[in-house]
Amino acid sequence: MSYGAPENNRSQDRQFAGLDLKAGDLQSRNAGTQRTSQSTYIPPHLRGGGGGTQQRSAEFFSRDSYYGGRSGERGYSPSNSYGNSYGGGSYGYNQYNNFGGINRNNYGGGYGKRGSGYRDRNYDSPKDPWMSLPSAEDWGKLLPPNERLERELYAGCNTGINFDKYEDIPVEATGDKCPDHIENFSDCSKLGEVITHNIELCQYSKPTPVQKYAIPIITGYRDLMACAQTGSGKTAAFLIPILSRIFEDGPPSPPDMKHLGRRKQFPIGLILAPTRELAIQILDEAKKFAYRSHVRPAVVYGGADVGQQMRDLDRGCHLLVATPGRLVDMLDRGKIGLDVCKFLVLDEADRMLDMGFEHQIRRIVEKDSMPKTGQRQTLMFSATFPKEIQVLARDFLDNYIFLAVGRVGSTSENITQKVVWVDDVDKRSFLLDLLNASGPDSLTLVFVETKKGADALEDYLYREKYPATSIHGDRSQREREDSLQSFRSGRTPILVATAVAARGLDIPHVKHVINFDMPSDIEEYVHRIGRTGRVGTHAPSSVL
Ligand code: ADP
Ligand code: MG
Repeated sequence: MSYGAPENNRSQDRQFAGLDLKAGDLQSRNAGTQRTSQSTYIPPHLRGGGGGTQQRSAEFFSRDSYYGGRSGERGYSPSNSYGNSYGGGSYGYNQYNNFGGINRNNYGGGYGKRGSGYRDRNYDSPKDPWMSLPSAEDWGKLLPPNERLERELYAGCNTGINFDKYEDIPVEATGDKCPDHIENFSDCSKLGEVITHNIELCQYSKPTPVQKYAIPIITGYRDLMACAQTGSGKTAAFLIPILSRIFEDGPPSPPDMKHLGRRKQFPIGLILAPTRELAIQILDEAKKFAYRSHVRPAVVYGGADVGQQMRDLDRGCHLLVATPGRLVDMLDRGKIGLDVCKFLVLDEADRMLDMGFEHQIRRIVEKDSMPKTGQRQTLMFSATFPKEIQVLARDFLDNYIFLAVGRVGSTSENITQKVVWVDDVDKRSFLLDLLNASGPDSLTLVFVETKKGADALEDYLYREKYPATSIHGDRSQREREDSLQSFRSGRTPILVATAVAARGLDIPHVKHVINFDMPSDIEEYVHRIGRTGRVGTHAPSSVL
């Protein structure tokens, strides 16, 4: 089992150190946890055959024993570049997944003639400025504010995040005539007033290292393969320049007016993500940057009601976030046309191109109406990018820039990683020790390998009276979203998860990631522990 936590999270270390695993003053240690009399908790001194446990515990708590307490007995060999943690800034989760009735940017259905046809069905007053018909120039201008929406969109946006310590992070940008990087958002004169205003509302005072390079590359019309650590702001690194370009360029001419019904949407940008929850999260970010503009982002993902998603699309979709399966369905139904799609983003690109998704990606990108490589811009982002997938990725790119921020395949340097050898029979008890050691306000993410394993561990924690929930692929989408929300809000501060939650999720206050089961590959490990220690903050991660 392994765990990851922020490096400077001394208090957590003190808490662990305070766990007297050798002696067994369990009475007092467990006093606060209200267990039932049938508790299956095994006290440390009775675990795994006695004496060995003491030594193992000592290894565990020595700071640098990660991946190798019992040299070589378990999977990976140590490599100091893996695992860090930006410690969760205080980003609030944006709760709503659609624009509901409050955003008036819902220009009903697709492209009409330029400067016509956009109308919000929910809004009828002819005097309202929102009803004015946008022209190409209007797309670059700010629409009137909506206070309520503004509060909702930017609630929880953080202040005071300090990226200064990442100033010296090595950055390598290779490729033909790479555009110069920027130091401040204002250095990029082409961003325009809408994006500049929304960056301010997000309270981003400076671009992160990946943003400094990616923004001018994307506004400079270049394809990009970018690798940067978990939690380093990759989402905004593509959303800011894409939306800026969309605002500045104005609405494209529709592909063929004859076939244009209100019922088919032609997004200008398409972002593909591997999991539904990540797609929702990207949509929430996109809404922040599209605020007060004519551009309407939308999302489609599996497991949710298709009819409702189609009705939402009918309200307009200029930037589409999608999981591949549901997008293929929408393409087959003739709901979406990719004819004018100028921007294609693969977030978690190595995952999108691995065997599980490659077929669907080729169906979407190569076998539909999307402009060919070279006629569109293709942008790929991930923290990990194995060489063989980089080679495959070239099929989709044209004269691209390769950007590596920090070491490819590493997470943030702030995650302290530890590995502890625990006998299988003792794992659950050891997990309880770790959970007891976490502070009351911290969120803990526990990864397991299988769906069954997740159910079993959640049941166990429930029986032991720990506030846990779980997320995995056999749960209904409703259940998945509910448990993630319950975790984010701190109502159930322990989340047992399979790989479905390993990538991309940006959850503030995740202070500890525990690998109850070892992941099967190193990329998965890097993404799992990267759920903690995000945006310049610090956190721990453990492997049991
Ligand atoms: P990644 O995709 O690299 O793992 P995310 O895009 O999820 O990281 O971003 C992590 C967090 O950083 C998000 O909460 C985001 O709002 C925040 N963030 C992004 N860019 C900045 C910035 N320039 N300044 C402050 N916070 C930022
Ligand atoms: Mg991401």
